[in-house]
Amino acid sequence: MGMNSMLGDATMINGAAVAGVMTKAMIRDVDNLRKQGITPGLAVVLVGDDPASEVYVRSKIRKTKAVGMNSFCHRLPSDTSQSALLDLIATLNADPDIHGILVQLPLPLHIQRDAVLDAISPEKDVDGFHVLNAGKLAVGRTDGMIPCTPRGCMILLRQVLPSLAGLHAVVIGCSNIVGRPMARLLLNEGCTVVVTHLQTRDVAAEARRADILIVAAGHPGLVRSNWVKPGAVVIDVGINRITTPNGTTIVGDVAFDEVADHAKAITPVPGGVGPMTIACLLQNTLQAAQNTIITKALVS
Ligand code: NAD
Repeated sequence: MGMNSMLGDATMINGAAVAGVMTKAMIRDVDNLRKQGITPGLAVVLVGDDPASEVYVRSKIRKTKAVGMNSFCHRLPSDTSQSALLDLIATLNADPDIHGILVQLPLPLHIQRDAVLDAISPEKDVDGFHVLNAGKLAVGRTDGMIPCTPRGCMILLRQVLPSLAGLHAVVIGCSNIVGRPMARLLLNEGCTVVVTHLQTRDVAAEARRADILIVAAGHPGLVRSNWVKPGAVVIDVGINRITTPNGTTIVGDVAFDEVADHAKAITPVPGGVGPMTIACLLQNTLQAAQNTIITKALVS
């Protein structure tokens, strides 16, 4: 299948295909770096045995290796102390073979998430969750690490919208992982941005004004066709496991079939934003590795 395909009147944005193109380019770039003596390395830290996290981590490790990068995985028991985790992060920060560090969330409740995220060296913070990187994005600087899922959404939007400037964008959900950084990226591209969340009085009314609707609520089928302006571009970030009489399936936050009828373009779940998240994680790791060459050149 090509990058986009038609679905009734809507274009279906094929995130899996876009991620595939990015992956091919990364294989070449990693190979070039290796010829210069640098193999990009990504360390993943998993604390505890959350089954969903285990699936995500395994997939990240497999794809890291598939583009020729080194993958380092640290599995720690759920009763690991915060100080032991911080010690491990300090070791990874100092290791020149590691260019990216990712601590899989959620962490066990006895560990302060922000203390851990802020302990990661900002240059190796490939998730873009360190407060310094979040701050750079918030003030419109482009030299920080951008969180992977919103970065992937921006790439998908550019598949169907040559320019975002002046468009009305509505984001449903305001987590630090998706909604907030997404809103900042859209603002930095010149959109007029409205961020909605659980306390918003009338989310549907806000959504109906959107030229670009980004949905990251974690609520299956939340967005119905009467929430969407005809001709809007809809990006569905949601990943919800639901049980049906036919077994467990994965659905997004958007009622896909009815919304696809009158959107300009829409992402499917699965095969939309999901594959882009991992592609952008690897892209951030590659960028971190390339940055070490630039930094070395500047100091020598
Ligand atoms: P979260 O639970 O941290 O945040 C959800 C946000 O949505 C909150 O701000 C909440 O106020 C808002 N919200 C929830 N229900 C709402 C409603 N009915 N109306 C308006 N706002 C509502 O979740 P998250 O980590 O931001 O993830 C959101 C979804 O995206 C989840 O389904 C998650 O699995 C998925 N996700 C997908 C990817 C990917 O790669 N595709 C990556 C991260 C998260």
